[in-house]
Amino acid sequence: MAVTILGMDIGGTNLRSGFVNDRFELSEFRISSSQAICGEKAPENIAAYIERLMAETGIRPDAISIGFPSTLDKARKRLLSTPNLEGLDDMNMVERLENALHIPVYIDRDVNLLFLCDCHANHLTADVIIGCYVGTGFGNVIAIGGEILVGKNGVAAELGHIPVRGLTLDCPCGNVGCVEMIASGKALKTLQETWYPEEAIGTLFTLHASDEPVRGFINDLALPIATEINILDPDEIILGGGVLQMDGFPKGALEDAIRLHARKPYPEQALRFHYSGEKQENGVIGAAILAFRHMKREKGQPV
Ligand SMILES: [Zn+2]
Repeated sequence: MAVTILGMDIGGTNLRSGFVNDRFELSEFRISSSQAICGEKAPENIAAYIERLMAETGIRPDAISIGFPSTLDKARKRLLSTPNLEGLDDMNMVERLENALHIPVYIDRDVNLLFLCDCHANHLTADVIIGCYVGTGFGNVIAIGGEILVGKNGVAAELGHIPVRGLTLDCPCGNVGCVEMIASGKALKTLQETWYPEEAIGTLFTLHASDEPVRGFINDLALPIATEINILDPDEIILGGGVLQMDGFPKGALEDAIRLHARKPYPEQALRFHYSGEKQENGVIGAAILAFRHMKREKGQPV
């Protein structure tokens, strides 16, 4: 019998949702505001959103799978911290939603869902795969042997929060001087306000890719990526996120900067870059892939 998953991708700005069947076909794709479901009653708001969706479409999914821009516990039940959205800190979201909806619920980090979608789309199955997603912040995923690394507490692969000497900017995570403060969409916004206050941020790469401030930004982006490459010697590298998808983003210059800082002769000589798909629905598809993986694992099947 066909299985249907309700996939949801809750980002810092947009909430995307849709139903995905086991042939990865998407229906009823919708985009709305994340702010509308957050705040003091976030779990109730999310449950109400899902109930409304089920009532409007007449579809009751076999499972619900949701990505949050958060750190999660190792068991993938509890949200630990969500810097960019209100009301999503330190709560067992799976328990709250399952009690309200009586449907199995799976949750994970939003970047993990994008990563699962990108691996699926690019047929990547290698031993060591890393993903670096430059959006508002700097998202990172490490997969080893087909499993996404979660670490002792569930918070592995927070590459954006490695400290940089001499950097004194406050990071939303609570620390000072994280590399995300110079290698992210936030940093690009500051660059635009400082150097090009009269221009729209969307023109930075089309008009100014060879200017010193923009070249400096590209080099800063390469630092954490090359760092992780030098630690893990990955088979495959996925690069993505909203900043890389901007018009005119200099992919070649970023790859050159990564190569500059990667150890010679290897891994530098054998780097394999892939670019994340640009589609809005990728997080929703990735959410469904996550649910299918959990459901197979629960039945004792290989994922
Ligand atoms: Zn930080």
